[in-house]
Amino acid sequence: MKRIPIQNEEARLNALRNLRLLDTEPSESFDRITRLASRLLNAPVSTVSLTDHDRQWFKSRFGVALSEIPRHEAPCHYAIQADELFIVPDLLEDPRFKDSVLAHAGVRFYAGAPLITRSGYGLGTINVIDNKPRTINPDELAVLTDMAAFVMTQVEVQNAIGGTNPITGYPNDHQLFEYLADVGARYPNQRRTALIIELTTARILGEGQRVLGSAYAEEFVRRAFEIMRGATLRFPRFYHVGFLRSLIVLDEGDDWRELVGNLDIALREPIIAAGIPTIPEPVVGVYTFTSQEAEPRDVLRRLYNALDDGRVAGRFMAEYNETRDRAHVRSFNLLSELPAALRSADQLHLVYQPVIQMEGGVLAGAEALLRWRHPKLGDVSPGEFIPLVEETALTRQLTEWVINTAVAQFAGLRGSVDLPKISINASARNLEEEDFPDRLRLCIESHGVALGDIQLEFIETALVQYSTRVLDHLKDLATMGISIAIDDFGIGYSSLSYLRHLNANVLKIDQSFIRGLAGSTHDQKLVRAVIAMAHDLGYQVVAEGIEDRESYDMLRDWKCDMGQGYFIAHPMSVDQFADWRPKLPA
Ligand code: C2E
Ligand code: MG
Ligand code: MG
Repeated sequence: MKRIPIQNEEARLNALRNLRLLDTEPSESFDRITRLASRLLNAPVSTVSLTDHDRQWFKSRFGVALSEIPRHEAPCHYAIQADELFIVPDLLEDPRFKDSVLAHAGVRFYAGAPLITRSGYGLGTINVIDNKPRTINPDELAVLTDMAAFVMTQVEVQNAIGGTNPITGYPNDHQLFEYLADVGARYPNQRRTALIIELTTARILGEGQRVLGSAYAEEFVRRAFEIMRGATLRFPRFYHVGFLRSLIVLDEGDDWRELVGNLDIALREPIIAAGIPTIPEPVVGVYTFTSQEAEPRDVLRRLYNALDDGRVAGRFMAEYNETRDRAHVRSFNLLSELPAALRSADQLHLVYQPVIQMEGGVLAGAEALLRWRHPKLGDVSPGEFIPLVEETALTRQLTEWVINTAVAQFAGLRGSVDLPKISINASARNLEEEDFPDRLRLCIESHGVALGDIQLEFIETALVQYSTRVLDHLKDLATMGISIAIDDFGIGYSSLSYLRHLNANVLKIDQSFIRGLAGSTHDQKLVRAVIAMAHDLGYQVVAEGIEDRESYDMLRDWKCDMGQGYFIAHPMSVDQFADWRPKLPA
């Protein structure tokens, strides 16, 4: 390899500093190599020693307490200028070293192999040291040369992975993980706190970027990092772990609350980029841990959790909360396991809850309700998994499964039950699907069922953010003769008049008004008024959640059309439903 002469010292130092190895924590990946060198060469001490401007700094040291020594007294200083291994059989016999710090510390023998970058800069050495004079044989020479190559591979790997953020130059998450792994191995019981700071949401920055391009965003980030670094200077472990996020690891005993306070103050001022002052919307996530509790990647994941909690709660700071994390993990797992459930024959099934005519008590229909028997978690309530599914594209498959199953079972039930209607829950998101009405029609007709025997329920709140396609499809469904019910009516913010746009013909009053009806005069007035108004506007009314005789009687007296609830029947399997007959005294 071509060596760049030492006159280029400034370039050499730059090359060394760009590697960001100086004054970093000890690291197992380097220590492994010095341990091995010491053992193979049978020497009590081995170091990876980097040649800084006026010192030799030890990135790794085996068998020695010193962390640095003056450069010009060090054999390494000579070793990086030599083309081969640099060997001093006895320091006391060599005028260059006989009065050096090393010689005074009892060192007699030195052998160092230079660490040379691809561009030819000598960074330092890997060396072995002994407290007695000795020589080195050709095998040992070869081993030390190989060790130097190992060290350089390690340096390159670290850099190839990309150790720093290109915008700010701060160490990135790879270096964070390495640091956490190293301190974890060294001090497994230390409790440390890490803070993640998200400057603002990507949305806000995106707006600036749309107009001013990425240079604006980068300037914003650079400025913001200067401010954050200014407020955290006391803490050496500062990382840049995502475009808008910095991360600080504190030492045991450091006061993180004070740091959060300082950050809060520092980040209140507008950040000026491209001449535009932007007010940051920072959130800080905090997590305190020992390495036994959290692997390096867990630390970051849990910090993201805390950050998210903070954003959702609209607070500047949130500490990691294990319960919420578990809930998130459970939600995520449920979602990722739903596709398998849809394919399996026995995880999903429908139960049916009768809906009866309040006057006369005859069967008016049944609502199909989804059940998920998860192989590990047991029964999972639709109240838990449906809202999750509705955030994703899985809604399409799930509703399709429900509709297919419900229509097929409805066709089957008709032999044994006088069942006028089947009511199926769908998501407002399904109405965004271009082909939803067509697929529905196909499915219904393929089972020989009349379109008019099918009712779809949509939750009121979900329909509030309707798009034109949703409205158009509701209209299509109504034209096809499908009945449309507004589910959980009353808990949203909509007025009765807004429902006109939805082409619905049935209102299902939410159970929260019905369940405690007998005991609440307030709910009684409300429900009574809703029934009357709904009738005026031409809707049929279903009360859901009827749990007692008293409420049932009241609703019947107020001319509520239909009722559903535990007082009448619990949801039941399709086989049980086939045998079920209403037996309410009229
Ligand atoms: P929902 O559509 O309003 O269904 C009524 C819920 O109230 C059902 O809960 C039912 O078991 C329960 N219920 C019925 N009568 C009573 C009563 O007297 N007292 C009480 N306390 N509860 C009663 P479930 O089956 O747990 O379903 C919860 C929600 O999940 C449903 O509310 C619906 O929004 C959704 N859901 C259920 N199945 C499906 C489905 O196939 N597709 C979609 N998109 N959503 C579904
Ligand atoms: Mg429903
Ligand atoms: Mg409901």
